[in-house]
Amino acid sequence: MIDKEQLAAKLDELIAETERKIAGYEEMSAPVSPDDAIGRVSRMDAINNKAVAEAALRTARRKLDRLKTMQSNLDDPKLGICKRCGRPIPTQRLLLMPESPFCVRCASA
Ligand SMILES: [Zn+2]
Repeated sequence: MIDKEQLAAKLDELIAETERKIAGYEEMSAPVSPDDAIGRVSRMDAINNKAVAEAALRTARRKLDRLKTMQSNLDDPKLGICKRCGRPIPTQRLLLMPESPFCVRCASA
């Protein structure tokens, strides 16, 4: 059985954490100003970091979407049921990877 209170608390925590990360990535992916008093090498670094931050930002936003979907579906009796095989997903996995709608076996298949 799924412990919904535990799950809801963990979801709150993960959503807050992901929102903090998104804010950080947004800052890192802000446009690099050519007027910045930084040398060419560090400007290249800044552009490189920007690309990394943008990729991380996209991933974090997708994760946030899934977390919020799960949060709004907490009362759904199908919550915690693997979308592929229909077996219950262990609570431990739900808490570890609430963004995944699949059980371990199906996720790795
Ligand atoms: Zn499955």
